[in-house]
Amino acid sequence: MRYVSTRGQAPVLDFEQAMLSGLARDGGLYLPETVPAISGLDEMDGLPYAEVAYRVIRPFTGDSFTEDELRGAIDRAYGRIEHAAKAPLRQLAPGHHLLELFHGPTLAFKDFAMQLIAQLFEIALKRSGQRITIVGATSGDTGSAAIEAFKGIDNVDVFIMFPHGRVSEVQRRQMTTPDASNVHALAVTGHFDDCQARLKDLFNDHQFRDQVGLAGVNSINWARVVAQIVYYFTAAASLGMRPTDFTVPTGNFGDIFAGSIARAMGAPIRRLIVATNQNDILHRALTTGEYRIGEVAPSISPSMDIQVSSNFERALYWAYGGDAAAIAQLMDEMKTGGFTISQGALQALREQYVSGRVSEEETIQMIRTIRAETGEVLCPHSAVGAAVARQHIQPGVPMVTLATAHPAKFPDAVEKAVGLRPPLPPHMADLFDLPERVSRVENDVDALKSLILERRTN
Ligand SMILES: *Cc1c(COP(=O)(O)O)cnc(C)c1O
Repeated sequence: MRYVSTRGQAPVLDFEQAMLSGLARDGGLYLPETVPAISGLDEMDGLPYAEVAYRVIRPFTGDSFTEDELRGAIDRAYGRIEHAAKAPLRQLAPGHHLLELFHGPTLAFKDFAMQLIAQLFEIALKRSGQRITIVGATSGDTGSAAIEAFKGIDNVDVFIMFPHGRVSEVQRRQMTTPDASNVHALAVTGHFDDCQARLKDLFNDHQFRDQVGLAGVNSINWARVVAQIVYYFTAAASLGMRPTDFTVPTGNFGDIFAGSIARAMGAPIRRLIVATNQNDILHRALTTGEYRIGEVAPSISPSMDIQVSSNFERALYWAYGGDAAAIAQLMDEMKTGGFTISQGALQALREQYVSGRVSEEETIQMIRTIRAETGEVLCPHSAVGAAVARQHIQPGVPMVTLATAHPAKFPDAVEKAVGLRPPLPPHMADLFDLPERVSRVENDVDALKSLILERRTN
């Protein structure tokens, strides 16, 4: 399997190289040249999650991993998800199902991809003898998933920057309590945007980049997208492989894009519905054809508070028929605040995606409604999904809403809605008792560089 950049100017890579490099050298994102079809759909129901994962992921990895390596990585990764089904499907109402993706070690769907790529990184680095330094910026969920997944992994140091005082206590503790010496939580004086800007500075310093073997695991890493394809198949299998609609709480467009890959492989997905909060650039783009960056308005579903939805570039590439020059041009126009999607491409996008947005008030109301109707307590991101899903349910077509985080991860929003703070699940009940380990760092690239050079174990 060969991977090409959406901007057409970077070398063609295999799976392992695309995984280790993250972003393409021309600033683009890697995509497979062709999407493999999958067979044996009717046999999937009742298979263990790990077996479906192997069948779905195998065609993408080509010669990068042997069967034993890939199976081993999958088993270790999903062994850490505390539910026998891994991604259980729970019925909310007639025709409406919740796909629970929050039974992993950090209680958000990001564990599904991060746990797996940590295992794959370890195998690849062991083989090559290479050592790398992963640096990431997080508004919460990505950083905790990365630290949890990479702690104790050989040949890798992980540094995660988060905005000091601006993540939830659960999120912070998930980053600061793992005690492995190769993971480092950095509290940066500033906002999430500052963290992201410093991350860019580091990647743009080519000397530093080569010196420490800088690598990225943010949501544009193709290997993360691949891992997220799997649960569309297990959900569809549980519903008898009937044509099914999926609603996905969306920020950087990684999770929903995995859904379109699943569909291209042959999963019986009818509509893919993009659910956004008040930061609705994607909903506006799909409705008006104008992709225009605004100011981020902080919401109670912070993991979806984005201005630029990075994986959307992949959907655009397909919508423009693989015209990399056109994509490079659009991304250039981003520097001046946005662009207009061509009529043909907009049409193509609308064949792939439907969209909806809900306000803060509607999100809170949905947490209340679902609690009243079912006793179930949703996290605010999943509530955005459920609210948009309810606007789109059609008789006779099952609707699956992706539940992207556990409500205990966002206790303030949940308390505001239904007056209770959901307890942490038993496997992390001690989170508030463990000692924290964190380095404060100024919003300054040189301070950051010296800290990384001093702390890394490699
Ligand atoms: C990251 C995240 C999202 C958004 O997912 P994307 O793949 O970026 O669209 C939604 N909900 C939660 C809880 C998240 O952590």
